[in-house]
Amino acid sequence: NYQARVAESGQDEVGQLAQSINELASRLQHHEEQQQEFLADVTHELRTPLSYIQGYSQVLEENWVQDEAERKKYLALIVRESQRLQRLVSELTDLTGAQGEGMKVVLVRTDFQKVVRETTAKMLPAAQEKGIELRIERGQQGQLFVIGDPDRLEQVLLNLLTNAIQYTPQGGRVLVKYEANEDDLQVRVQDTGIGIPARNLPHVFDRFYRVDKSRNRAKGGMGLGLSIVKGIVDRHGGQIWVGSEEGKGTTFFFTVPLASTLSRVE
Ligand code: ADP
Repeated sequence: NYQARVAESGQDEVGQLAQSINELASRLQHHEEQQQEFLADVTHELRTPLSYIQGYSQVLEENWVQDEAERKKYLALIVRESQRLQRLVSELTDLTGAQGEGMKVVLVRTDFQKVVRETTAKMLPAAQEKGIELRIERGQQGQLFVIGDPDRLEQVLLNLLTNAIQYTPQGGRVLVKYEANEDDLQVRVQDTGIGIPARNLPHVFDRFYRVDKSRNRAKGGMGLGLSIVKGIVDRHGGQIWVGSEEGKGTTFFFTVPLASTLSRVE
């Protein structure tokens, strides 16, 4: 507990020192509170699937269900909840990595078009299944190289595209657009989906933040995806932001430094 405060006596050097100590103390306290909150969130997310798994397996173990189809349903639920746990663990690993030093991010001269093409191709089946048109649009012709980690950039795009497809109803459109500015590449992932209410927008990059918890549980999201994405973009020295209108759609923007044709980073 960093509640203790030093008396700030005045504007002289001692007074200023006291002020800095107090600022530091309150920052430490804030940090500690955030850690507590994080731990509480993790515990909650672990506990829920675990209790489902425990409940369903007990039902099966005790032979409370005789019907074979019904038993299969319980087994499927156990599998689903185990997958959820697995996803949580892997997202937590990514998150602590992306926000600290743990994640391997190797910045090299990367052909951005290639990353976009490959990632979009991976998402096509999911889009087609929902009757969503998934398109790439680029600002200018010619090759575009960025300073980035191709695997991590793919992870960013996969995450944004998965969300865009998930939160866009049948028959909608998802567009990946990128354009070179002075020193960086600006990328946008735009959808014609349900949108995010203005009051929720400032929080979407927070850990464990979900706009609608009940809506998301069935679909498997734990609100970690965008915080991982932000961590990765930060580690590239880029920026990320979002604009949205409820019922109309959402656009996520991010930037990545361009590799100039002269300075090659290998
Ligand atoms: P999750 O893994 O739960 O989807 P994310 O961190 O990826 O978590 O997203 C946080 C929340 O932001 C989601 O729960 C969802 O409500 C909202 N969201 C993210 N992307 C979109 C989008 N393209 N359209 C509408 N809502 C979105």
